[in-house]
Amino acid sequence: MLHTVSRNVRASLQATCLNLYRQSRNYNAGLSETPSPVVSIVGSGPAGFGIAQFLLKNNTNVRINMIEKRPVPYGLVRYGVSPDHQDVKNCINGYEKVAENQRLSFYGGVEVGNTLSLDDLMLTCNGIVFCHGAQEVNRLNIPGEELSNVFNAKEFVGWFNGDEEYRHINPELDGDTAVIVGVGNVALDCARMLLKPTRVLKETDITQHALKCLEKSNIKNVILIGRRGPLQMACTRRELSEIMEIDDIHTTISNEYITDNVKDALNVKKLSLRKTQRLVKYLMKYSNNDVDATSCNFSIKLMTTPIEICGDKKISNVVVRNNIVSSGDAFNPKIIPGDVIEKIPCSILITAIGYGNKVLDGRIGNSNGCINAIEGRLDFPFPIYACGWCRTGPKCVLADTLNDCLVTGGRIIEDLESWSDAGVKQPLPEILRRKNIEYFTWKHWKEIDAHEISSGSKIGKIREKIITYEDMASIAFGNGK
Ligand code: FAD
Ligand code: NAP
Repeated sequence: MLHTVSRNVRASLQATCLNLYRQSRNYNAGLSETPSPVVSIVGSGPAGFGIAQFLLKNNTNVRINMIEKRPVPYGLVRYGVSPDHQDVKNCINGYEKVAENQRLSFYGGVEVGNTLSLDDLMLTCNGIVFCHGAQEVNRLNIPGEELSNVFNAKEFVGWFNGDEEYRHINPELDGDTAVIVGVGNVALDCARMLLKPTRVLKETDITQHALKCLEKSNIKNVILIGRRGPLQMACTRRELSEIMEIDDIHTTISNEYITDNVKDALNVKKLSLRKTQRLVKYLMKYSNNDVDATSCNFSIKLMTTPIEICGDKKISNVVVRNNIVSSGDAFNPKIIPGDVIEKIPCSILITAIGYGNKVLDGRIGNSNGCINAIEGRLDFPFPIYACGWCRTGPKCVLADTLNDCLVTGGRIIEDLESWSDAGVKQPLPEILRRKNIEYFTWKHWKEIDAHEISSGSKIGKIREKIITYEDMASIAFGNGK
């Protein structure tokens, strides 16, 4: 639903924007005016770089300030995509070329909405594009979620990908069974990391602390839990085959989910259903009920909802309840709780039930944290746009994010002319300096990058990521470390 800013809020915003505009005019009095429009891009993930590339290519004048809350760029490509998906990370080569354009300046370590307010940001540019992704975490909200060795995917993925916030989560992998809630691609990433032989991970950019921990892991069984049926699985066939085809992995998925309704649904001829149908046909090849005690097991348990996580301080089992279809068709079943309760013994549980959205400023219209924007443009009295997961929600892959950049980018190019009266703005570095905000430039990142590659190569890895802000700052600013 399109959010419309109320008349009062709009009037007050217009007054604020006019003020900011006057301040910037005064500030620039006496300076030579340059006609280049300045666009601030908030976030340096795939959406941020996609928009930057589009704008630089389609307008020879525009200048870009890319503002990133972390000292280093690339968003989920660095902190989300699995270490065993290095081919996906190749997109970084393209992003580097974009960043090296003279008309782009990178400001890392600056959090919009926190260290730098939206009002301050508006002083520095003629238009803003939010590309800050979906940074929140969803919770199951069931008893026991706070027990030790229970993690959400953001924590677990962040741990093996070198996210400073999660470096100390120390998952204990001494037991033999892990349960993962959710059947999306992130759940599969977590399952693969737990089951894949570490010899195939050790040359990647996985953090050394995670590699050491996985090398000692006793996990032999990974059980994925999905609350709906096979036709509603959120993962994709390619990602499923990646795990099912690992040597020495035995896959178990109960025949009971492949009901007559599901089989009939596989024969419906409709282009939009093909992907799901292929996924289920692939699953059917593996459907059986036997766990193999001699090898590692990857099991998918569908039509199941966790209701309580149990243990004495540390998780020892999860209690689940079955779901049944009460109405609807195979593609859109209505699921209600059944009455079969089961206890699954496990020593670690990861919830991979999607990320969550939040706006960076209370004045931004949104639905559940996803920014409301038509063709990427917000209903706001300053040119503001949104692109990528902060607008679409956390449910697309890189290719979709890139498509979103084309739509939003196209709209910005169309609009650029109408911003021209905003004139030269306050230089962002001036404001950052005035507010004592330390920031990382692209040159700083390249120093960190070189350091990571060099320390990785000493231990036979693609790179060893620098994890803490302090260590990044010491490499970038030479603070004596
Ligand atoms: P993000 O990548 O999250 O980038 C947002 C950026 O904004 C981040 O750098 C963040 O630090 C920054 N930011 C946030 N708040 C602020 C702020 N207040 N101020 C300044 N900066 C801010 N897709 C694939 O195609 N293949 C894969 O293998 C794949 N693996 C994935 C694995 C995981 C675990 C996840 C979660 C997703 C994966 N995806 C994959 C999906 C892909 O990562 C997303 O489509 C894509 O990253 C979305 O891009 P984005 O720029 O919108 O968000
Ligand atoms: P997702 O695809 O939305 O999957 C989330 C899963 O969690 C779904 O199975 C969902 O079930 C389940 N779920 C949500 N809330 C739940 C609850 N309260 N209780 C139980 N289950 C719940 O999200 P994701 O796995 O985080 O992936 C996000 C996006 O990144 C996706 O587009 C994905 O394709 C992409 N990605 C791609 C790759 C890759 O290409 N290799 C890798 C990782 C991620 P319902 O369907 O029933 O809601």
